[in-house]
Amino acid sequence: MIDTHCHLDGEEFAEDLEAVIARAKEAGVTAIGVPGIDLKSCNSVLALCQRYPGYCFPMLGLHPEEVKSDWQDVLPRIKYSLTSNLLPLTSKISIGEVGLDFYWSREFEQEQLLAFEEQVRWSVELQLPLMIHCRKAQNEMVSILKRYRDDLPGGVFHCFTGNELEAKELLQFDRFVLGIGGVLTFKKSHLPEVLPAVVPLDRIVLETDAPYMAPVPMRGKRNEPAFVAYVLERLAQAYGVSKEEVVRQTDANCEKILNINV
Ligand SMILES: [Zn+2]
Repeated sequence: MIDTHCHLDGEEFAEDLEAVIARAKEAGVTAIGVPGIDLKSCNSVLALCQRYPGYCFPMLGLHPEEVKSDWQDVLPRIKYSLTSNLLPLTSKISIGEVGLDFYWSREFEQEQLLAFEEQVRWSVELQLPLMIHCRKAQNEMVSILKRYRDDLPGGVFHCFTGNELEAKELLQFDRFVLGIGGVLTFKKSHLPEVLPAVVPLDRIVLETDAPYMAPVPMRGKRNEPAFVAYVLERLAQAYGVSKEEVVRQTDANCEKILNINV
């Protein structure tokens, strides 16, 4: 199984990264997508992925919560990093995480909208998939994506936690899938009913969003890629299929959407 979204470059993993990767492999994790959030982390993501070639896959972008007044200086530097690393890493690089987040603050709302649209244009221009973070902003996000709908190569709506209508709206975008993580396992989550009702398994990928969002029974602890196994288990239960079937399908989705084949 593949953890498509894991902040392995974070300081939370600085002490025991080797052990975290070893536990992931032991748990059956065959690849990990590692998203950047700002210029500094894009560099650390690249360094980390070069340390684990064929296992950790980089995603470079400016996270909505990191969009500040200097965004116009930051974006060209991230794009340079993206394009200069395109050749050696072949096509297994994505743009992310990018998106909109109006949950905590709308201070940089306009900047967020502009920075997101710019990075969506990179996706079209470079034909690289998007790893999208969206909180309290689905309408705004959808209206930006619609402008590029026919030319987008695809991507992931990471950390999906919405309802049936919201899921259907996102699935209108061909070659986009929903990233499902720890929230699925929470006691009050409606995802175990929402997902099988409207989302076919060929539109789902697994993720942890580690070190955040640890699934039950690890909730509250530091999350790590090995814990994606708990998400897998709950998803198989919700769809009434075997874990092997979920792995087969979500791995195939990763290959199709993110070019990650293992
Ligand atoms: Zn993230």
